[in-house]
Amino acid sequence: MFYNSTRNSSVKVSSAEAIIKGLSDEGGLFVPEKIPPLTESDMKYIGRMNYAERAHLILKKFLTDFTDDELKKAAQSAYSNNFATPNAMQLSKLYPDCYVLELFHGPTCAFKDMALQLLPHLMTASAAKCEAARDRKIVILTATSGDTGKAALEGFRDVANTSVTVFYPEDGVSLMQKRQMTTQEGENVRVCAVRGNFDDCQTGVKEIFTDSELIAELAEKNMIFSSANSINWGRLVPQIIYYVSAYAELLEAGEIKQGESVNICVPTGNFGNILAAYYAKQMGLPLGRLICASNSNNVLTDCINTGVYDKNRELILTASPSMDILVSSNFERLLYHLSDNDDNVINALFTDLKEESKYILNDKVRKKLNGLFYGGWCDEAETKRTIKKVSDEFGYLMDPHTAVAYKIYADYKKCTGDTAKTIITATASPYKFCSVVCRALGQMPEADEFIIAKKLEALTNTEMPAPLARTESMPVRFTDSVEKSEMKRAVSGIIKTL
Ligand SMILES: *Cc1c(COP(=O)(O)O)cnc(C)c1O
Repeated sequence: MFYNSTRNSSVKVSSAEAIIKGLSDEGGLFVPEKIPPLTESDMKYIGRMNYAERAHLILKKFLTDFTDDELKKAAQSAYSNNFATPNAMQLSKLYPDCYVLELFHGPTCAFKDMALQLLPHLMTASAAKCEAARDRKIVILTATSGDTGKAALEGFRDVANTSVTVFYPEDGVSLMQKRQMTTQEGENVRVCAVRGNFDDCQTGVKEIFTDSELIAELAEKNMIFSSANSINWGRLVPQIIYYVSAYAELLEAGEIKQGESVNICVPTGNFGNILAAYYAKQMGLPLGRLICASNSNNVLTDCINTGVYDKNRELILTASPSMDILVSSNFERLLYHLSDNDDNVINALFTDLKEESKYILNDKVRKKLNGLFYGGWCDEAETKRTIKKVSDEFGYLMDPHTAVAYKIYADYKKCTGDTAKTIITATASPYKFCSVVCRALGQMPEADEFIIAKKLEALTNTEMPAPLARTESMPVRFTDSVEKSEMKRAVSGIIKTL
């Protein structure tokens, strides 16, 4: 199977090349030229497989240039031992017809682990297949607003022939997220605070990627840059696995009948997670409505409801920071598929976005979008009320991102009367956002994150996940903090030590 670019359909690359390059040369995203189907026998057996076997089965359909052995090993390394639950994910029933798909039982307690535990293995195998990357060290640079950076560090730590550096905004991540990153273990990892916001970090990293001096320094040492951000196909394909897996588990447990349609509700930022549900549906998984939940940064809600994507607005900082996004990059992939893989449509839309900060969907695309997706958003007060309500009613503790999804699902049911069974994806442990959750439950938070966590444990009879608790006694390894203008020098310094 080959991959095309959303901005040039005639680009045709292998999956290994798509994973190494991340982005196509003209700026488009790589998409599979066709979606492989799930067979009846897949659905019959997948519920009885372990997660690594399920992963192997799905990956094989999309990454056809990898050997069976490569994929098996990658899936084993990623999913056999690194998660706190036996099957990487965990499905729990909130009430009849409503299930929570917990995707935060990995080493960093956010759903990014589901993909970033696998990506390094896909990337090193891809490098071996690509002329331009063979036998070269891969230098990963990542800007993070919190969850991605830590998940990338954990995923790439001590992976042979890779090095990973993360830049985070010094005052822009939660205390727990900062602690997680600065105590990171591993010989090939670096973490650096930037005196600026997330945009500054991201712009800095983008500039470094195209800096000819640094690229030359790298080439001299037989190294290449790569990125672990969520537009990489190697991060998207692993996310399809858990939707197929969740459906198969419900089937196996007798919760649903074969072929029964199940809705999926996702707290959405860059549109990667919910796009994976779309791909699973296109493979033939019986999914119903895909419910796209946003916080006050409701660009996607507006687009689904009006057909206009308009990023001309202030970014609002919320209690669900991983959804504080105005341009959801992976939405481009969906639009490409909905316009029957027409790169002209995509080029026109994204020229408009660049020139006018907005674009308008044509009627055909809009109609298809509305047939598949429902969009809704909720504000800060509603998010906090939902955390409290779900805790009171079901004794279930949700992080702020998951709470947004729960609220939008409730709105969806009220507005459509749809009573189909629904899976809500839970994207982070509530213990990553202790202060917000504590306040939502009506408690006064303390200054120390670990004291708040203990309060939360006592209050809700839940336990702080071990990977977070462990950071309390771990030594801080990274204290560097640089100006935005010094990021390039920092990277150059790191390259010299590699
Ligand atoms: C990244 C993230 C999201 C958003 O996921 P997308 O795939 O970018 O839509 C939601 N919740 C949490 C906790 C995240 O870390």
